[in-house]
Amino acid sequence: MQNKHFINGKFQDAESAETFTVINPANEQVIAHLSAGNQADINNAVAAAKNAFYQGPWPNMKGSERAVILRKMAAIITRRLTELSDLEVLDNGKPFPEAKWDIEDTAGTFEFYANLAESFDEQASKEISLPEPGFTSKATKEPLGVVGAIIPWNFPMLMAAWKVAPALAAGCTVVLKPSEVTPLTALALGEIAQEAGLPAGVLNIVTGLGQPAGQALAEHPDIDKLAFTGSIPTGSKIMALAAKDIKNISLELGGKSPLVIFEDTDIDKAVEWIMFGIFWNQGQVCSATSRVLVAEAIYPALLKRLIEETKKITIGAGDQSGVLLGPLVNAAQYDKVKAAIARGVKEGATLAYGGVKPIDVDKGYFLTPAIFTNVDKNSWIWQEEIFGPVVCIKAFKTEQEAIELANDSRFGLAAAVMSKDQARCDRVAKAFRAGIVWVNCSQPTFVEAPWGGYKQSGIGRELGEWGFNNYLETKQITQFTSDEPWGWYVK
Ligand code: NAD
Repeated sequence: MQNKHFINGKFQDAESAETFTVINPANEQVIAHLSAGNQADINNAVAAAKNAFYQGPWPNMKGSERAVILRKMAAIITRRLTELSDLEVLDNGKPFPEAKWDIEDTAGTFEFYANLAESFDEQASKEISLPEPGFTSKATKEPLGVVGAIIPWNFPMLMAAWKVAPALAAGCTVVLKPSEVTPLTALALGEIAQEAGLPAGVLNIVTGLGQPAGQALAEHPDIDKLAFTGSIPTGSKIMALAAKDIKNISLELGGKSPLVIFEDTDIDKAVEWIMFGIFWNQGQVCSATSRVLVAEAIYPALLKRLIEETKKITIGAGDQSGVLLGPLVNAAQYDKVKAAIARGVKEGATLAYGGVKPIDVDKGYFLTPAIFTNVDKNSWIWQEEIFGPVVCIKAFKTEQEAIELANDSRFGLAAAVMSKDQARCDRVAKAFRAGIVWVNCSQPTFVEAPWGGYKQSGIGRELGEWGFNNYLETKQITQFTSDEPWGWYVK
């Protein structure tokens, strides 16, 4: 792995002498020392991206030409599938099948945006009908400019792809700052860009900490757009930094998403989706359905079944076969989740299962999945994002009560409902104040569909055509076509 920044098409020595360590969360061993990029590294990367945007061919190429390179990137990712999945397991800790799924989705994201880039050639310009006969007008869509992309550690390569692929497809150039917790596959993206023949400077990758590297990127005057995924406190700082020079921003932030289960739902199906909704990726999922609302009539039976199934989850290192729950990503996250569990107990909620270190483990940030009951709706544990395998379950009496409890949150990223009654599902889906709604499931995500939150969960949408529009500016070109004089001043 390259211990350098990827700038202007090459892995270059860092300006900063500082480094940071990357660990394997399954055994706590150091796996890499990487450059902690500073202001000078960010300046170099932004200068390369700016030059590639204003001097290079990329923004002026046809979408179909950009698509050729994006498809090559997808093909290289697919060719390197096992190696990249292994790297993700090593860096993030997630079980191998989940990592493989992420990398397949990463390749799929590049493929999807290659297709959109191609179809964009037909749609980049739209005639506008005007009421005035002496004028014609058209609206054109153009690449927005130089993009600063800052991403978290929970889906390292996939989160990079969700920003890099649409930005490149639109004709923008990018400086990517991956999370310091999981930077390895983002660096591999530099190698992939090189091999695919992406022109120098179109994609630049600087490793480093939130401060100074992330902050330097967020406040750089030559960045036209900031695309951020991460926590609300950091998102708020980024928004303030962007406000100084009115940068275009999109924010994908946290959540505390509800899953509402009505009494006509099959209990085994409900248990499966509860578990997938909160234990997948160790619960380190922004859209995790961490608040589960269950109809009173089936609550006792469902809780019993959920605890039975949760006990069966195989916990272990992500490279071991059959493992369904890996370690949390690092010591800080482990301590944060443990503290949240302790807080829930102190608040008076019942820890019905889990929340402890498995007995047969001495190294690694492993935690048994936790289930809380008797949770007060105003408690911290019910209201705040924990970002770990911790679920809070609550019974409800009526549909109206379930909707009110579901929407009683400062977040609005996702929400889910389960029922055999389609009319009820439709009503509840409409009533949810959330950007992503799942019906009779929780979490399945498709690159074609818009992704993003209401309320404090974010601004803007990623994925699908919405994610592509994130990286485009709209220009009107209006022409005076009449031979008659305008005649206002000059008569
Ligand atoms: P984080 O906010 O701590 O860090 C995210 C990124 O911001 C990292 O690259 C970090 O280095 C950088 N950063 C930190 N301080 C900065 C600063 N002052 N200026 C600029 N950059 C800075 O988040 P995290 O712990 O990496 O990720 C977990 C959070 O991400 C959770 O809240 C989760 O819900 C959210 N998330 C949201 C989505 C979504 O699509 N809505 C997806 C994944 C994760």
